[in-house]
Amino acid sequence: MTDTPLALARPSIELGEGVAQLDLARDLTKCRHCGCLHGSLRAIENAYPPERRPAALAACLDRALPRLADVRYDCIGCDPCHPALAVNALGVEGEACASSEVQERDGWPPLPGSFTVLRFLAPVAICTLTDEGLARELVSVATGEIALVGTLQTENLGIERLIQNCLANLNIRFVLVCGPDSRRVVGHLPGASLVALARSGVDERMQIRGAPGRRPALPNLSREQVEHFRRTIEVVDLIGETDPLRIMGAAMTHAARNPGPADLLLPGRGIPVMAGYLPARMVPDPAGYLIVCVDSRKRRLLLEHYRNEGVLDLVIEGTTTAELCTAAIDRGLVSRLDHAAYLGKELARAEQSLRTGSPYVQDAAPEQCGATGAAVGGGGRAAGCACGEINR
Ligand code: SF4
Repeated sequence: MTDTPLALARPSIELGEGVAQLDLARDLTKCRHCGCLHGSLRAIENAYPPERRPAALAACLDRALPRLADVRYDCIGCDPCHPALAVNALGVEGEACASSEVQERDGWPPLPGSFTVLRFLAPVAICTLTDEGLARELVSVATGEIALVGTLQTENLGIERLIQNCLANLNIRFVLVCGPDSRRVVGHLPGASLVALARSGVDERMQIRGAPGRRPALPNLSREQVEHFRRTIEVVDLIGETDPLRIMGAAMTHAARNPGPADLLLPGRGIPVMAGYLPARMVPDPAGYLIVCVDSRKRRLLLEHYRNEGVLDLVIEGTTTAELCTAAIDRGLVSRLDHAAYLGKELARAEQSLRTGSPYVQDAAPEQCGATGAAVGGGGRAAGCACGEINR
């Protein structure tokens, strides 16, 4: 250890500030469990080996290291991030944030993250950078062109996950980057780093060329993945834009020139798409059958429940599909999923009829499509003979 001012060796370091930030992080429970603090302490130890470590920094590390707890997350992107400020102040270069590989799961998106999935077949993904409130606002006004809306906190792990999730959906052809980038003092700058990646790609060490973030490395991606992302997905730079209407306007503009699904990078990694079909045979619901009626005079929907021997045992009334479905399910009047789906569809049609005044006639249940003349739910009423509309 030495008390030699590091400024002699590294003119830009601020030892007091670095120690102060590490002490702050050490006292925060969230930091003690964060890979960012663990990685930062490792990087500081490597940059300042014991024989060249200033006494104040050595004492600081002695206070911090015993208080580290198990890592529960890699980096949660706080602004400010005290360890990030510490490594900046101490002039530490190289990997400080955790950059471990994350486990893929089946389906899309394959990697977990801070996002809301809206529609698989849509061409536009929106990244609001550090602004979670903006992401929520956009979700509430999103149209069918938006596949998902999420945040992005880091210029390494975050970008890796964004790329992997986008490549797993061939329909995504545009990523709109909006909202505020992290403050320059924090150093992550994921938005500017993503834009730099789209513009210039990565170098031989998988570092993003020209990225302003502190650690813009993508070690868990292959070069092929990065180039496929750059070739098939357009990154639209709206960094700093926080107006949901302007962002949605830009999304619409880009969706209008959607070139269609991209090529699959890895065969067999796509989401399967299959044709729907009708049931091959009738399977009655042991819970009985249901008749949907519209009472236009009272402006009510009615749901009659019959046991399968044809005996009425309950009538539910209300004005919306949700009300009647909830009551029917709570009372155990539907025991098969196909019957529940059919009931929802019929009630939605009946509700539309109630709203518009158009005539309503109950349709055949799905299990009847392949069994002409069978009764609804296996009971005493023939297909499509429900009362439909009354008192009109
Ligand atoms: S991101 Fe930084 S400030 Fe936030 S918990 Fe992790 S180490 Fe602490």
